[in-house]
Parts: sequence; C-alpha cells; structure tokens
Amino acid sequence: MRAVDIIIKKRDKQELTDDEIDFFVRGFTSGAIPDYQVSAWAMAVVFNGMTARETTTLAMSMAHSGAILDISDVVDISVDKHSSGGVGDKTTLSVLPIVTACGLPCGKMSGRGLGFSGGTLDKLESIPGYRVDLTTDEFKSQLKKIGIVLTGQSLDLAPADGKLYALRDVTGTADSIPLIASSMMSKKLAAGAHSIVLDVKAGNGTFMPTVESARELAQAMITIGHLAGREVTALIADMNQPLGEAVGNALEVIEAVRALHGSGPGDFMEHCLHLSAHMLLLGKRAESLEQGRAMAQKAIDDGSAFDKFCQLVVAQGGDVSYVENLEKLPQAPIQEVVESPHAGYIARVHARTIGKAAVNLGAGRAQKGDQVDHAVGFLFHKKIGQTVSIGEPLFTIHARDRAQTEQARKVVLDAFAFSEEPVAPLPLFY
Ligand code: URA
Repeated sequence: MRAVDIIIKKRDKQELTDDEIDFFVRGFTSGAIPDYQVSAWAMAVVFNGMTARETTTLAMSMAHSGAILDISDVVDISVDKHSSGGVGDKTTLSVLPIVTACGLPCGKMSGRGLGFSGGTLDKLESIPGYRVDLTTDEFKSQLKKIGIVLTGQSLDLAPADGKLYALRDVTGTADSIPLIASSMMSKKLAAGAHSIVLDVKAGNGTFMPTVESARELAQAMITIGHLAGREVTALIADMNQPLGEAVGNALEVIEAVRALHGSGPGDFMEHCLHLSAHMLLLGKRAESLEQGRAMAQKAIDDGSAFDKFCQLVVAQGGDVSYVENLEKLPQAPIQEVVESPHAGYIARVHARTIGKAAVNLGAGRAQKGDQVDHAVGFLFHKKIGQTVSIGEPLFTIHARDRAQTEQARKVVLDAFAFSEEPVAPLPLFY
C-alpha cells in the first residue's frame, strides 16, 4: 500500500477500506508517512467527508495507535467529558474538579488550541510547572490516588490523534465531522472512560455552524461510543458568542477558578452546573439531574471543588501558589478597555472573529510548534441581549504591544452589532 494512493482515493471521493485507514494511521503515527501527505489527506477528508463506517474505523484506529487504558482496577466507574471546541470554553477546568469533589473519578486527555478554538492544555500551561505529558502508569496511579487527571496525549495514549490534531490546527483542516468525531472519541476510548458526556457546540465560534450539523457530529460520536460499548450523552450547546467573559489562556484559568469559588459569570456557572449534573447522573452518583446539580453547587459552596483543582495542580507538578494567588498568573503589559460607540441592545458578539483575534494576539498558533502567549486575550463585559450605553466598557484587550492592540480593537469592535430593538438572549443549550 502507498500513502499517495490512499490520498488520491479520498480526493476522488471513494470510500477507504478498514485496512487502508489502518495503514494510514499506523504510518503517520510511526512517522513513515510525512506531515505533507497527512495534511493532503486531511484536506481531502474535509472536502469529501467519510462514511459512518470510515469514521468509526478512523476513531478505533487512532484509539489503538497507542495503549488503551484499562482503569477498571482503579475506579468503579469513570465518566469523561469532551467539548467539540469553542471560544472561551474553559469548562473542563471547572467541571472536572467539581464532579471529582462529588466522588466521581475523572481522568481526561485534553487537546491544545485548534484553529480559532482554544485548548485546555494551553490554558493549563499558564500555571508554571504543570505537566501535560503523563505516562500511562502516572495517569492510573494519580486517578487512583486523587480521582482526577487532566493531561494531554502522552507518547502512549492515542498518539495518532496528537499528531493529526497538531497538523489540523495549522492546515485549515479542523472543520470536518469525521475528523472531529474520530479525534474526540479516540481520546475518550484510549483513556478508558466507561461513560462519556459530549459538549457539542453549535454556532459561529465552533466547527459546526448550525444545530443540525452539531447534531450530526453528536450522532457520529454516539455511534462510535456505542460500538465501543460505552454509554454516551451528548449536549448541544450554543457557541455563537464566547462562553463566559474571558478568552485567552491565563485569563480563562482565572475565570475557571472564579467559577470554582462560585463567582464566575452567570452563563459559565450555569453551563458548568448543567454539565456536572449530566456527568454525575451518568456516573451513578446522582439519581436525577436536579440532585446532580445540587451536589455540584454544594461542592462549589463548601470549597471542595477548588481543593480538588489545587490537588490536581500539585499532582501534575504545577505551582499551586499561582492558583491560590491568581494575580501571579501571566499578565499582559497592555490592558485596554474599549468603550461602546453605540447605545442599545447587543445583537452580535461574533465568536469566531474573536477566536481568530485571540490567535492573532498570540493566544494560539500560526504554525505547528509555535509557542503560545499565555497572558494575552480579551475580557468581554456584555452578552447578546444586554443593553449598553455609549461609553460603557464593552471589552478589555490584553496584549503585548500597541500595534496588536490597535488591530484587535478594530477587529473585535467589528465583531459586535447593536440594535435599537430588544434582542433575545441566546439559549445556553439547544
Ligand atoms: N476536540 C478534539 O479533541 N478534536 C477535535 O477535532 C475538535 C475538538
């Protein structure tokens, strides 16, 4: 078999066999198939898609490209969560400690930024020393000891996804249902979760622009999960405006920690409580969503969720003083408030434009291997549907230099639209 023939076959809209997909995945995992061929193949998939069978085979092949964790000797049940990507989506940072504090173990493999969408690992690395490269043994022993793990694709867990994901980030090949579904599910299957809650986003700030396409992605992942014998719940969440107020790595860590203290923005708190309730229900710690939600709220109120986050940071080598004193986290030299040029109702806060603007400030990558700037990003002071007066703070830019600040001011102001008529707030979930 030759990689080039598999690329041509996909380019010509033909269905790949299981053997061809397996060959390709093994090839790029080992390095036998170079990045340029993997990128060409990924672009062919973006344009021509994959059948349900091809998508499932790709997910399974990537899951089996490294070790598959068996954690049944460590925990009675493990529920994992994963978001399909968005702008300002720092949910994992808050939800994992919340559910773990409620007695539900959770070991999760997360990703880095992908195109305009932020990544949990980049956010976590704002905390000096935090390791995202745990080995299988470290993963299991930490899960057993403190019930929570938040790491990246190590050398031995779903390495194929790690490689493909890094290429997709910088080759315009993120937006594809088969590539997203197989990427997300390969990580979930490799990390050994028994049950999975999928936070599938819909809107301009994610890869699925409509609720219908998000539903299609959710269905593809549910099918993969069921074939692999897992229980899966998929929620469809709005992503037409940033989630919460913060966009940018350290800024999002600060907001996630505020949420663990009970003082995060309303939409973000609500999102976390809802997701936690679903995880606790699936993990058989709660008998109903209402009970799960009450448990999650209690873990926030009594401080146990924040304690769990601190335990996680310490266990993975991070300096916990940065979490206890959030002002120690990286801060941008320029912090500039932009005031509203209009009065009325906020009609649009275009999330994708904002995600791209954050990448341009340095919060994401332009090329594979680029360093991200943890300090830069934005804080938004208004949500769609709220009223604003002329001169009221609309957003704050956190930037490294003046030129970037001016560019960001223009681009992000254009991401806003105003209306004289009342505008309905967006739902959080569909
Ligand atoms: N999250 C992932 O893990 N992979 C994707 O492709 C998109 C979001």
